Amino acid sequence: MNNKVAIRKCEVYDLTEVYNQISDIWQKCEGPDVSGKRVLVKPNILIDSDPLKAICTHPVVVEAVIMLLQSKGAIVLVGDSPGAYSRGYTGEKSGIFQVCQKSGAEWIDFAKDPGEINLRKGKIKIASVIKEVDIIVSLPKFKNHGLVYFTGAIKNTLGLVPGFTKAKQHALHSNRISFSEFLVDLNEAIMPHFFIMDGILGMEGPGPGQGIPIKMGLLLGSSNPLALDIIASKIAGYNPNDIPTNAVALSRGLWMKSAGEIIFDGPELESLISNDFKKIPLDGSESIVVRFLKNRMHFLKKMERRPVFIHKNCIGCLDCIKICPANAITMHPKKDNYVVLTDNKCIRCFCCSEVCQSNAVEIRRKFFGA
Ligand code: SF4
Ligand code: SF4
Repeated sequence: MNNKVAIRKCEVYDLTEVYNQISDIWQKCEGPDVSGKRVLVKPNILIDSDPLKAICTHPVVVEAVIMLLQSKGAIVLVGDSPGAYSRGYTGEKSGIFQVCQKSGAEWIDFAKDPGEINLRKGKIKIASVIKEVDIIVSLPKFKNHGLVYFTGAIKNTLGLVPGFTKAKQHALHSNRISFSEFLVDLNEAIMPHFFIMDGILGMEGPGPGQGIPIKMGLLLGSSNPLALDIIASKIAGYNPNDIPTNAVALSRGLWMKSAGEIIFDGPELESLISNDFKKIPLDGSESIVVRFLKNRMHFLKKMERRPVFIHKNCIGCLDCIKICPANAITMHPKKDNYVVLTDNKCIRCFCCSEVCQSNAVEIRRKFFGA
C-alpha cells in the first residue's frame, strides 16, 4: 500500500472514456500486479437499483474495471451482498449482472456458504470467495451516509459480510463511533488491494439509499482506503476529521498518520471542493446553547435524528422490518402498509432508510411524542 490518490475528471459514463481514466489512475497509484491472478471486483450495490439513482456503482465503471483487469491477465469475479437480499440474489436492476455476462466475469453469490474471519474482537461471517481470490478491487460510490456521514472505501468493505448478517453488527455497535471502529477492524482483517471510487454521478442529501443524484464528474483511486476517503470527503465539503471512519483509522495510525502524507495526483484539489453539496448534518453541529440543553433536558433528546415513516409511500415490502437489528419496526395490525416504530428500541443505525426503495423512510429530526 502507498499513500497515492489520483483523481481524473470524467463527465459521462462512456466506456472508452471511463476505461482510459481508470487505466491512468491504476498506473499513477501503482495498482497491484494482477497477471494470472484471481481478482474479486466488489462494487457497492446497496440496493439493486437503476444506475441513474446513484445508489450503486455504475455498471460502466464496473465494466471498465473488469476490462482493465482482464487486459492485464486477471481472472475476474464480481459480487456484492446488499443487506436486504439473501441467497440467490443477482445484481440485475443495477446492470452489473449483465456486465458480468457480457465480459465473462463470474458473478459470485456472497450469501452462499459464507466463511468466518477473526476481528480484533470476535469473529464475523464473510463471503467465502475472499479465501479463493488473490486480489480484491473495491469500487465504492461517492455518496453520503446517514450514520457515518460519508460512505467511501472503508465502508464499502462491509459488503463482504453477507446479507442480513450485516445488520447484526449495527446491534453490536450501536453508535457511530463504535460502528466506525468495527468498520476499521474489518478493513484491518480483510483489506481490498485497490479502490476505484465512482464519483461521476454522486449522491448528496439523505444517502446512502434515498439521497439526490448529483453530477460530480470524478473518478478517484488509491490503494489506501483512508487516503481516498479523506480526499473524497473533503471534496464533498466535509472536514475529513469529522467522518468517524477517517478519525478512527487516523487515531490508530494504521495506514497513515496524517492527511499530510497523501501524495495527490489530479486537478487542483481546492478547485474540486463542492461548496453546495448537501451534507448530512453532523451530530453536535447545533449551537452551544442547544447542546448544553440537550445534555440536561430529556425532552430535547427526543429531537435526535431518527427514521420517520412516510406511510403514504409504503408498499408493505417488509424489508425495513427484516433488516432492523433492534426489532424496532412492526407492521400495524389493522392498517395496511402502515409501519410502526418503537422509538425507544431504535438504535439509529438507519438501515431501514438504506433498504427502503419506496421513499417511505426519511431520516430527520422530529419530536417524538412525550
Ligand atoms: S428502526 Fe431503523 S434506524 Fe432504528 S434500529 Fe431499526 S433499522 Fe435502525
Ligand atoms: S417503509 Fe419502505 S421498506 Fe418498510 S415496508 Fe414500507 S416500503 Fe418496505
